[in-house]
Amino acid sequence: VSAKEVVQDTFKRIDATEAKVDSFITLNQEKALMQAEKIDAAGITATTPLAGIPIGIKDNIVTKGLLTTAASKMLYNFDPVYDATSVEKLYEGGLIPVGKLNMDEFAMGSTTETSYFKKTKNAWDATKVPGGSSGGSAAAVAAGQIPASLGSDTGGSIRQPASFNGVVGMKPTYGRISRFGLIAFASSLDQIGPMTRTVEDNALILNAISGHDVKDSTSSKKEVPNFAGKIGQSVKGLTIGVPKEYMGEGVQPGVKAAIEDAMKTYEALGATVKEISLPHSKYGVEVYYIIASSEASSNLQRFDGIRYGYRSENVKSLDDVYVSSRSEGFGAEVKRRIMLGTFSLSSGYYDAYFKKAGKVRTLIVNDFKKAFADVDLILGPVSPTVAYEFGADADDPVTAYMRDVLTIPVNLAGLPGMSVPAGFSEGLPVGMQLIGNYFDEETMYQAAYAFE
Ligand code: GLN
Repeated sequence: VSAKEVVQDTFKRIDATEAKVDSFITLNQEKALMQAEKIDAAGITATTPLAGIPIGIKDNIVTKGLLTTAASKMLYNFDPVYDATSVEKLYEGGLIPVGKLNMDEFAMGSTTETSYFKKTKNAWDATKVPGGSSGGSAAAVAAGQIPASLGSDTGGSIRQPASFNGVVGMKPTYGRISRFGLIAFASSLDQIGPMTRTVEDNALILNAISGHDVKDSTSSKKEVPNFAGKIGQSVKGLTIGVPKEYMGEGVQPGVKAAIEDAMKTYEALGATVKEISLPHSKYGVEVYYIIASSEASSNLQRFDGIRYGYRSENVKSLDDVYVSSRSEGFGAEVKRRIMLGTFSLSSGYYDAYFKKAGKVRTLIVNDFKKAFADVDLILGPVSPTVAYEFGADADDPVTAYMRDVLTIPVNLAGLPGMSVPAGFSEGLPVGMQLIGNYFDEETMYQAAYAFE
């Protein structure tokens, strides 16, 4: 088949399913078809094995000439003048961006419900949340609209929606992928990553978007391996640690059972599975909400009603432009984070909150370093639960925040983490989380593929 036929079919499928899933904010039909025609004319080469594959992009990754909203009223009309480096790399690889995917506003949330535009539905049960913040990226892949998407993960936003929708989601090592053009939430935690139906597809897309970028000084100069290089190799001889803190109270029995099955599978495949401890993990959520909100309060200062997007009509002075535009442009969750972050950074509270959080972050990092002296991979659930009803945490942000307890420590440490489908509980997908050592995504894909 031609790339053009593939793209045409993709839009037909999106048309047929979008009313049920609501995963896209913006479609890129005309340009995608033009790009497909070019690829058909040029042909697929050895350096572009993925040429012609349609892909969706989370709407906090900027795309030149294609609306990029971060699911916020603040950016409802933002038409970027450049592409994110990850998007440039997609184009270089011949992948075809077909549209921008729904998410929680500025990636703040775990259900995609804080989007200004629409509620994305879980691909398995439309009464359940798709997870978040990359809910659109996960549901679109799970619903068969597209074979792959890009998401972003600051505290679990790739892994948790991947888990809730039964797809493969990778948050690579911090620094693996350029963040240039990713609308910043918490710069020391944010990473872009691929979401796909299969492990191998995931590795191939990571190959396409990884690497050092002069435009992001935190992107790593480490050589980029072929991430699919160990796919197909046996896990015999690998040691997998299961943190006892990840299998305790609060983890639903059906989720726990799926992870215990996965442990048995790995043993049967020849790996050694053993219990480990990450004693400071339990402070992860508190540390995260101080650090992530502090960084967000700083990063979101740029949305002033002048430089980007929404500007209030209701103004008499320059101060009014700032205050009214921000008051009307940001949603409630974003405002909550800005207030929390501004408070944690303010003089008199900085030492007690922001500085202290940094110290506990180091303890969490050291837990992982100690663990990886003995194991090759860490295994546990992604989320303590399967997907839940819409509105479950409507008036209870603290309960909502606690749900990310198993994904957040990985971001604080900058480690790679992925979600791999590991069965079902109550008819809904359960994801298992594989955590790798720094820059060892290859071994994660090896183990994920062996399980798959
Ligand atoms: N759910 C977490 C939050 O609301 C993580 C979000 C993310 O990874 N972007 O901050």
